[in-house]
Amino acid sequence: MIPILDLTGQYRALKPEIDAAVAEVFAHGHFINGPHVHAFEAEIAAYLGVPHAVALNSGTDALHLALRALDIGPGDEVITTPFTFAATTEAIGIVGATPVFADIDPRTYAIDPQQIERLIGPRTKAILPVHLYGTPAAMEEITAIARRHGLAVIEDCAQSIGARVGRQATGTIGEIGCFSFFPSKNLGAYGDGGMLVTHSERIAARVRALRAHGGAVKYCHEEIGVNSRLDEVQAAILRIKLPHLDAWNARRRAIAQRYTEQLRHLPALELPYCAPGSLPVYHQYTVRVDHRDTLRELLDDVGIQTMVYYPTPLHLQPVHAYLGLGRGSFPHAERAAAEVLSLPIYPELDVPDQERVIAAIAMARQATAGV
Ligand SMILES: *Cc1c(COP(=O)(O)O)cnc(C)c1O
Repeated sequence: MIPILDLTGQYRALKPEIDAAVAEVFAHGHFINGPHVHAFEAEIAAYLGVPHAVALNSGTDALHLALRALDIGPGDEVITTPFTFAATTEAIGIVGATPVFADIDPRTYAIDPQQIERLIGPRTKAILPVHLYGTPAAMEEITAIARRHGLAVIEDCAQSIGARVGRQATGTIGEIGCFSFFPSKNLGAYGDGGMLVTHSERIAARVRALRAHGGAVKYCHEEIGVNSRLDEVQAAILRIKLPHLDAWNARRRAIAQRYTEQLRHLPALELPYCAPGSLPVYHQYTVRVDHRDTLRELLDDVGIQTMVYYPTPLHLQPVHAYLGLGRGSFPHAERAAAEVLSLPIYPELDVPDQERVIAAIAMARQATAGV
């Protein structure tokens, strides 16, 4: 069986270092806000090229505290994509604001900048693009719109750590970048973790207070905060992994290139697109195809695992029923949800397994050619 993701190879490769780091934390006994957390914040900031990084418990908390730090709350609107993981709009809901959806660009699966401007009204406070599958959204257009209308841009970089637009890392282009270290992400912890990065000293200070019960000074609480900390064990593990991230992302690009070269000739199979000048990190390698579920079953029959990210666009989720947006509201997002299929990709996926995936898809496409 070829899984869509296998985390065990990476652990095997780093086991002596990781085991030693974990043992060292257990021995020093400083489990919260310890030296590894502070060092990891500095290392992520340097890696991305941004002055401030605040470690948090999850990517979801990074998004929700980003909104809090910008004073976005009840009555406010945030323009975002309906084709993403639920955490993106959950964060908007947690602060009491309302998501306003704009349809996606069917090539990149990210928010279509041309759909944004007509949605901007007096309650709009921010634009929240998602760099889905590790492919950067159209940041130049999005930041230009935001500037024209005085809106903040919060980047959901949960899937895009290391991706670039020109020379800028995703997460450093808008006001705030939000990262996740969920185990399956390109830089994964062995538990939950997240990071908020920003150019603004004021925003960083506010989030540092919010993550520690709403007070910058211990036992002085200025506002309702949360308990959201990256723990020391995870920070120690992530510090070992970070120096490998660029090589791992390069491996993902090499795998993507092999897939693209060898699948290109197949009919009725659309391959990933990335705008010139942007560097993707292939958190997923996602194709689109008619009769997607048939292809998925045929691949499953020969031991190749695939996934659908995501089968239901967010405007059709029960949690957003109150918005009254029915089927047909966002045709590109709805079509993507029906057609996308993500193939196995992770840095340790070897060439023979890549070739097996490619051969199986070619066979399956022949089998379904007449469907
Ligand atoms: C994983 C993910 C999140 C949430 O990150 P967590 O660390 O799991 O809270 C948010 N947005 C997107 C697009 C994601 O893929």
